[in-house]
Amino acid sequence: MIITIDGTTSSGKGTLAKRLAKHYGLPHLDTGLLYRAVAKAALTAGVDLKDEDGCARLAAGVELGAFHELELRSSGVGAAASVVASLPAVRRALFELQRNFAQHKGGALLDGRDIGTVIAPDADVKLWVDAAVEERARRRFLELSSMGEKVTEAGVLEQLKERDARDAARTDAPMKPAEDAVWIDTTRMTPDECMAKAIEVIETRRR
Ligand code: C5P
Repeated sequence: MIITIDGTTSSGKGTLAKRLAKHYGLPHLDTGLLYRAVAKAALTAGVDLKDEDGCARLAAGVELGAFHELELRSSGVGAAASVVASLPAVRRALFELQRNFAQHKGGALLDGRDIGTVIAPDADVKLWVDAAVEERARRRFLELSSMGEKVTEAGVLEQLKERDARDAARTDAPMKPAEDAVWIDTTRMTPDECMAKAIEVIETRRR
């Protein structure tokens, strides 16, 4: 069984993806980390985030194991990730790795922005996870504050809006729900409620 989870930043898709992968015993790939790793490598090496060839070369050799997850999770790296993610050559360089992961023999779960539309359009179950932007900003503010980042909720809200707009507007693999995706709006849901809803959707699809 291939499960894809796409959606907006801080919608709860990451938490849901981890829990569902564990529940169904599926290998899980958080594809956002790949774009974050490319961005972090570019920032470290002084490669311009708009240098398509330079960033694509970094993407071709990307190794998630070379980074501490926490250093990839910062807001600066997230914003930079959405810039390099708009470069078609970077997306091409990361395509094969993601596609191969989706082809795991026993199935797989991947989360990102274009998984149900581009990486695994043949997936068995596709979820689109979203929430009101103010609620997402509140969650992201709490998460970043707990990581020690000095941010304000209003600043985070602006960043999220900017990132959503860039992710949805890019010409190559824009963030959007697959036509056959089931929508989960987590604005008023706890993580447990979100998990229960997703399992219900998956079990219905399996039947
Ligand atoms: O999900 P996360 O916030 O870690 O993703 C960081 C950025 O990576 C997103 O804002 C998006 O621009 C990019 N991304 C993407 N396609 C994916 C996953 C992430 O373009 N499948």
